[in-house]
Amino acid sequence: MSDQNASFEQIGAALREHQRFAVLSHVRPDGDALGTTLAVALSLQQLGKEVRAWNEEGMLQKYSFLAGSDLLTLPPSEPEDFDVVVALDTATYNRLGTPLNSIRSSGLWINIDHHPSNPRYGDLVHIDPTAPATGQIIFELMCAARMPVSPAIAENLYAAISTDTGSFQYPNTTARTFEIAAELIRRGVNVGRVSQLLYENFPQRRVELLRELLATMQFACGGKLAWFSLSQATAKGLGVLPEDNEGLIDHLRAIRGVVVAIFFEELPDGKVRVSMRSKQGAVDVCAICKSFGGGGHTLAAGARVKGALDEVTQVIVQKACEAIETAGIPSELEPSGESQS
Ligand code: AMP
Ligand code: MN
Ligand code: MN
Repeated sequence: MSDQNASFEQIGAALREHQRFAVLSHVRPDGDALGTTLAVALSLQQLGKEVRAWNEEGMLQKYSFLAGSDLLTLPPSEPEDFDVVVALDTATYNRLGTPLNSIRSSGLWINIDHHPSNPRYGDLVHIDPTAPATGQIIFELMCAARMPVSPAIAENLYAAISTDTGSFQYPNTTARTFEIAAELIRRGVNVGRVSQLLYENFPQRRVELLRELLATMQFACGGKLAWFSLSQATAKGLGVLPEDNEGLIDHLRAIRGVVVAIFFEELPDGKVRVSMRSKQGAVDVCAICKSFGGGGHTLAAGARVKGALDEVTQVIVQKACEAIETAGIPSELEPSGESQS
């Protein structure tokens, strides 16, 4: 544990000094998790290192277009020894998931992330909650430490930043984010190609899932809270993959007057995956998720809560309503309809 951020120079020196690396990111990976894992793994490979890039889900189908995606695999059943383990974009140690079982020994742990709730596990820790994506921190690290940023690495970092900023839209997107995006384009990213593969290449079943989710949509708190849910039965019926629901919550967040959006997903293990978004800093969804054992950012957070789908929904909706009321957010507009709950 370390209270102070390790400098990029310190991290860069540690990366150059060692030979065998494992690069990991969080369970239910998103574009930031997989993009940064591949970017760091590719850069280390170019420095002549031996690198494993593992994720609990392996490479997701929808991100398999990313340059170098073959590098990222499921963890092996036989554990391996490493000099350094690099954890990226992962708010808690446990969210690294099953790859942890495939590490027999590790010298140094490096933890690079942008979640304010990160408890700073590891030896060299760099947490920057102002960064909109871990991809942005990794770009700064690679420049400061003079690590290779090939076109393949640039594409992975661009995908990481684009997905975590909602295509450069969320409030944590800064001038620096656009400067980095411009630099990545100069280094070879084809924006049209990457954007189309990220946002206009969904399987039909994802849109069928959206139709089912919208059928369960409900509002409370005078239209400031919106949610929808996915049962195991529906997920099985549609044959959806866990990766299919990334981003669907944005349809709720996009509704005028909605301040908090929630997606409830029934998991096979008796828990419910709760995914929350806020449109105003006065309502901190990370604080709500933390009180249920989860975490994340002020405006985007999650938790896995034990219990039946209905029960968990009721408890969380109540908490979210309280948070909205405590924050005293005025209605910008009259709610368009009667509350359904
Ligand atoms: P999601 O809603 O799954 O897209 O997650 C939103 C944000 O919250 C992401 O930055 C996640 O890393 C974080 N997050 C989601 N679930 C958890 C959890 N169970 N514990 C800690 N952080 C989480
Ligand atoms: Mn992530
Ligand atoms: Mn991230």
